[in-house]
Amino acid sequence: MDVLLADADIVTMAAGSEPARSMLVRDDRIAAVGPAERVRAAAPGARVVPLAGAAVIPGLIDAHCHLCDVGYLASGADCSQPAAPDIPAIVARLRDAAARTPDGSWVTGSGYVEYKLREGRHPTRGDLDAAVPGRPAILFHTSLHACVLNTPALREAGFGDRQPDPPGGRFGRDGEGLLNGVIHEGPTFTLLWGGLRRDMARMGAAARAGLVARAGRHFAALGVTAACDADTRRDSLTAYAEADERGLLGVRIRGLVVHDEAGWLLGSGLRGRRSARLAAESVKIWADGGMSSRTAAIHGSYPVPPYGSGIMYFAPDELTAMVREFDGHGLQVCIHAQGDRAIETVLDAYAAVLGDRGNPLRHRIEHGGSLFAPLAARAASLGIVVAAQPGMLSILGDGFAEALPERSDELYAYASWRRAGIRVAGSSDAPVITADPLVGIRDAALRRTGKGRVLGPGERLAVRDALALYTTEAAFAMHRERDLGSLEPGKLADFVVLDRSPLDTGPEQITDIRVLATVVGGEPVFQADDSPL
Ligand SMILES: [Zn+2]
Repeated sequence: MDVLLADADIVTMAAGSEPARSMLVRDDRIAAVGPAERVRAAAPGARVVPLAGAAVIPGLIDAHCHLCDVGYLASGADCSQPAAPDIPAIVARLRDAAARTPDGSWVTGSGYVEYKLREGRHPTRGDLDAAVPGRPAILFHTSLHACVLNTPALREAGFGDRQPDPPGGRFGRDGEGLLNGVIHEGPTFTLLWGGLRRDMARMGAAARAGLVARAGRHFAALGVTAACDADTRRDSLTAYAEADERGLLGVRIRGLVVHDEAGWLLGSGLRGRRSARLAAESVKIWADGGMSSRTAAIHGSYPVPPYGSGIMYFAPDELTAMVREFDGHGLQVCIHAQGDRAIETVLDAYAAVLGDRGNPLRHRIEHGGSLFAPLAARAASLGIVVAAQPGMLSILGDGFAEALPERSDELYAYASWRRAGIRVAGSSDAPVITADPLVGIRDAALRRTGKGRVLGPGERLAVRDALALYTTEAAFAMHRERDLGSLEPGKLADFVVLDRSPLDTGPEQITDIRVLATVVGGEPVFQADDSPL
């Protein structure tokens, strides 16, 4: 089946390509792209789809996110504003969710922002008890840096009234010092991941595949056609495989399997490329903590609570041994490293294992926020790929600047990294921040925090280079550049139709661009009401 996209503004992202107005899709691949007459001549019998000047860009790739978590939250109550304008609306939504939540699972809601609620405060344990009295319920703040638990959930999680604050976090308390159910930071993520894993282990294959499909729809609506799941485990990889077999895997997935399940992966039969949509040939290791929780391992110490210089999860020789082992198995190693002390240790490990033989498996640093100039030069000479999250600049950037006031202009130094020759892939880390790649593209171009401060104006990227992070560069980071990342004959037909081209839109307006349709392998996986397809 030949489909000819006509009268389109096609951004191919291919090196040295000419302006293109038409693209011919044959089955799941691109057969031709270029000027209208030439492409039309290649397929006289094609079904012609006129795009009336809409833009077509390569499918966007999220090189580091947590798909199952996104799907899990999407299956609970939507407590975002304006959908739930006040606490009674949240209560009603949680009550509805309770009716469809299986026994043994926690009732889950997400998306609220306390200052957008009519009451201007966090809901409390009392509010959640009114919604869901007899079983655990949890409501996540949209940032996932806070959550609210009802009384049964507090009990099941082991949080008591007289207890001191948890490590790295803080309990909200009422006037008498009793827990009001709100938890800031600390165990919030553990509660999310724990709930997801507990529920997935209990779900049947169809329910697990449904969760994956829901996540895929969320990403597809944002123009994402491929993603690396940076926290893939036995349950989630099994769910991806089940969804793939049922034809429900809307986006292509590369699983980065958590290091302590790598042994399972090697013996599971799920290793490698299972299909055009699913691959698992990478392992994920955490070297340090996070920048917004001030647990990233840095040289020096934080001027803000909890002070200290962050957490390293492994001794240097342990890290090197892990890299050596996984590299020996031919697996791509992806190491979370955010602080400069952690990044230095990770580069030492990579250098010890790789020597001067280059980096054929494309071992990566995930995040790499404090990859400062001398470290960047080392990473470039080793050929290390970085998977970074530009969108954190607007959403978490003010917190980063407080954590590292002297070096905040050097964080996520995209322009310097590019000049150093590092391959940098764009990603979201969703659900930590929004999965919307347009936010990341805008932030890579503007570098403006929520409070309006520009971090390192010299590190801003041109919009085309920002778009490359989420297309050609992310395809390279997931070993798929032969098939994905640009619109060229022979590549898979993964593309997004937008109402206008990001290259002709001021950076300020990039997040106003609308996704009209998302196509994976020639099949639409998302269409807006006014999709031209
Ligand atoms: Zn992550």
